[in-house]
Amino acid sequence: MSRYIGRFAPSPTGPLHIGSLLAALVSYLDAKANDGEWLVRIEDIDPPREMPGAGTNILRTLESHGLEWDKEVRFQSNCNSHYEKLLHTLERSNLCYRCPCSRKQLRDNGGQHLRSCGIMGEPLSQEQSAVRFRSKGLSVSWRDLLLGSQSRDISEDFVLKRRDCLYSYQLAVVSDDIDQDITHVIRGADLIDSTPMQIALYQSLKSDPPNFGHFPLIVSRETGQKLSKQNLAPPVDNTQPIENLNLLACFLGLSITEESSVNDALELMTEQWCRRKLHRQEDFKI
Ligand code: GLU
Repeated sequence: MSRYIGRFAPSPTGPLHIGSLLAALVSYLDAKANDGEWLVRIEDIDPPREMPGAGTNILRTLESHGLEWDKEVRFQSNCNSHYEKLLHTLERSNLCYRCPCSRKQLRDNGGQHLRSCGIMGEPLSQEQSAVRFRSKGLSVSWRDLLLGSQSRDISEDFVLKRRDCLYSYQLAVVSDDIDQDITHVIRGADLIDSTPMQIALYQSLKSDPPNFGHFPLIVSRETGQKLSKQNLAPPVDNTQPIENLNLLACFLGLSITEESSVNDALELMTEQWCRRKLHRQEDFKI
């Protein structure tokens, strides 16, 4: 049987809410039901968006719900040298360029870059520019484990390193997924627009992309919006893990008993887990 390594990779922008706990649970169940390993990676590469202590808080919530990870937790803030190395590899093959154009300049110019931009062949110094991947117009297809056949065109040269010198989510996530031998990325449908960019990076690196699966989100019944910190989704209450797991089990068409311990509940859910339950599912309403 082929190896399965899955992961849950939250950004520590705040505590987990029930929607992000669903993401943790689904990736966990899919890994465990396939005799796989489940890793946790804290994606702390964007300090301006982060909340102090959120990484530890997230890990505590996972623990209180019995979601035990295999191997040590990886913190992206420790991996900058990996990202820089990957950037150099792409630069050496001329797959990216330095770009001083702001979003506004690109918008005002109808998507055209400034004459002084690296896309025109100008070598630029590191300080004044972002690094963009040559991806505009690429077409990407994949067979999504939960949504079936997908294909998307990439509309711009996306950023690998920002002008403020922070590495982009796309670069870091692909670097780590390769480095950690991730075979399955099971995540919420809010991230599906990133998948073509990530697959394009894998292809340029001649590396096999993992299997991707995107599942429906939990949205507010009143507004139809996905739960998020911005719309004040409350943090998961760690003192009632069985109630939380029970709610998520209902969404997923699984059943546990109120008397179960978290470990028994997870075991029961793993036994019942089946991807087909999520095929073409609409968003979950709360
Ligand atoms: N860190 C990303 C987030 O919290 C998710 C990364 C991923 O699953 O690829 O939205």
